[in-house]
Amino acid sequence: MNSFIEKHRYNYIKKCLQNLNSAFRTSVDENIINVTKAHLNEKILSAFENLTEDEKEIIDITKISDPLHIDTYLSRLDKYTFGMKSVTKSQLLKVFKKEKKLHIPDLETLEAKKVYLGWTDNSTRKMFIAYDIDGVLLGMTCRIISQKNTNSYVCALCNYVGRDGEVISVSPVCKTRESGRDTYKSIGISICKNSDECNSRISSIERLEDILKTVNGIE
Ligand SMILES: [Zn+2]
Repeated sequence: MNSFIEKHRYNYIKKCLQNLNSAFRTSVDENIINVTKAHLNEKILSAFENLTEDEKEIIDITKISDPLHIDTYLSRLDKYTFGMKSVTKSQLLKVFKKEKKLHIPDLETLEAKKVYLGWTDNSTRKMFIAYDIDGVLLGMTCRIISQKNTNSYVCALCNYVGRDGEVISVSPVCKTRESGRDTYKSIGISICKNSDECNSRISSIERLEDILKTVNGIE
């Protein structure tokens, strides 16, 4: 069977299973556990469209009867999960053509399933994000803004609350069209510094796509 689970949906299922895990650990009443399980299974299925019966069977969490089965379930699910399409160095150079010295990360790391490709360049204090929307690779260059590491910030992409510089403030430059000509303005957002960790948490692509569209002046 082909991969049919996008990485962010896999992350969503993982999140639901954390709730199931807490139900197992905190409740002794089997009925409560079964109700929680059925509810979470519904939530998971409604995150998908047009699943076949076989696919529903693979995703089905209702047969998990012990918290120890969760990891086995997830590693099986991972086989049906796919991430962002692989990108080449020349594609990235084109997307970030305004950058004079673009430092491109090791693209082999993309073999790990990712929702988006993100990296920071400490020498220029910039964060780069590349993401595929309907076959079009979009990029976003952000300046990293100094911040107090003692404050906690919420990642705009995965909602993680990070402390001690785990989530950093960045400012992408947005392209907008006003009275028929391109104008540029900066916005401020916070994003996880460690893109691998962000990629293992992000369970919805709505915000990521909204930000990338705004930045690239796409309606
Ligand atoms: Zn994040």
